[in-house]
Amino acid sequence: MKICFAASECVPYIKTGGLADVVGALPKTLSKLGCEIKLFLPFYKAIDAKQHSLVLVPNLQDVPIKIGENTIQFSVYSGKLPNSKAIVYFIDCPQYFGRDQIYTDEPDEAERFILFQHAIFEVMLRLNWTPDIIHCNDWQTGLMPALMKLNFSLNKQFNKSASLFSIHNIGYPGKFTKDSVSKANLPMDQYYPGGPLEFYDGLSFLKTGLVYADAISTVSKTYATEIQSPAFGGGMDGILTDRKHDLFGILNGIDTEDWSPQKDQLIPHNYSFKNVSDKKKNKQALLKHAKLKFDEKIPVVGIISRLAQQKGLDLVQACFEEMMKFQVQVVVLGNGDKKLETFFKSAAQKYKDRFFAYIGFDNELAHLITAGSDIFLMPSLYEPCGLNQMYSLNYGTIPLVRKTGGLADTVKDYHEYYSEGNGISFNEPTPHALLLTIKRALDLYKSKKQWREMIKRGMQADFSWENSAKAYLEIYKEIKK
Ligand code: ADP
Repeated sequence: MKICFAASECVPYIKTGGLADVVGALPKTLSKLGCEIKLFLPFYKAIDAKQHSLVLVPNLQDVPIKIGENTIQFSVYSGKLPNSKAIVYFIDCPQYFGRDQIYTDEPDEAERFILFQHAIFEVMLRLNWTPDIIHCNDWQTGLMPALMKLNFSLNKQFNKSASLFSIHNIGYPGKFTKDSVSKANLPMDQYYPGGPLEFYDGLSFLKTGLVYADAISTVSKTYATEIQSPAFGGGMDGILTDRKHDLFGILNGIDTEDWSPQKDQLIPHNYSFKNVSDKKKNKQALLKHAKLKFDEKIPVVGIISRLAQQKGLDLVQACFEEMMKFQVQVVVLGNGDKKLETFFKSAAQKYKDRFFAYIGFDNELAHLITAGSDIFLMPSLYEPCGLNQMYSLNYGTIPLVRKTGGLADTVKDYHEYYSEGNGISFNEPTPHALLLTIKRALDLYKSKKQWREMIKRGMQADFSWENSAKAYLEIYKEIKK
């Protein structure tokens, strides 16, 4: 089966969050299952062509494309996705992608990703390659299903292709002013209040994907149900309820080549459950890095996160002083919201000997925190899937999560009586509930035997991509024309 995979970030080239991990791993696994994959990404300034052995494609240079009234040119780099037969095409348009940030608040944000999506179609046409499936991911690629159906010339070329739109986070609707409809070469007659292209007086790229894709998926079963309710649907719950028979929840996997304690190249000491005591050496290395004192009796709580409202870190801030009265050390890695950045920086000043924060993005440190912490804290208000809790489980680091979305599907609460569960979770999104749960985790840490059994259950879980990729393949087969 031929699959066009379109997305805005991908490991190992460029990453801001979990989407990049998924896009780096799913096409790779699909290609192992026999699919022919062409993966499309923007060529951002931060991507180093040399480092990734990318080459300019000779017949795809200075290709003109119309965005509204303007003609813009783009070129194409390509390369092989590492450890895979999948081919990656990068849309190079310095005027749009040669910026410091990969997502911006600049006035031409819509145009950047309109160009990206039109360029993907143009490249496929010039390569004379018609995919069976066009798999779009999040708002940056949400117009593609509509373009295939509504744009006269694209419909002629791609009416034999089916589209799947995957929601990785419904909290980012990609909403722009209504002039984006004509810039995208979509018909204005589909834009009217309550109509398929309209969303609160603008054009939402994500909503457009939901309306026009042949099928919709999201990244966990619980999130698939949650987003059909007003509390989680971000205004899209009505459409999703209408289309619930076309909506699938498929849990993300994790790339075990990058994220397994046995093989991880970025941690100082590899280990498996058999020699899980070696995990302690990573804890020592982490504390050394954080300039905190190692004491086996004191559990280390790790946080790795985009500092966004979604992640529930306001709850941590609200119960922070109470939490620091417990015997605990805390290590934080994250960036984003300036208020939270300032809070974590000042907490590190105040509790120099027990609290460490690195404000920034650092993949190597993320691996060290995952391996070196005892508890991983993820109190998200909503979480489509979440990867860090799965990494933590596989690294013998007990996740402490709020029961929502993919966290609810992967972390089973410890049960004292039945000796079940692989982590600790709570329901109420309140500082009080979080504080009580932290206390519960710290108490449990003292019960060495129970703790070890919980670690074992987590490390035994199989989160590899194989099963999830097969589930995607089933959807592809169902919608294929
Ligand atoms: P989201 O996609 O909402 O950010 P996920 O849990 O699905 O959340 O994925 C987050 C990914 O980004 C994980 O691989 C995590 O390790 C990584 N990550 C998040 N923040 C940082 C950071 N500051 N430095 C390094 N890696 C980070």
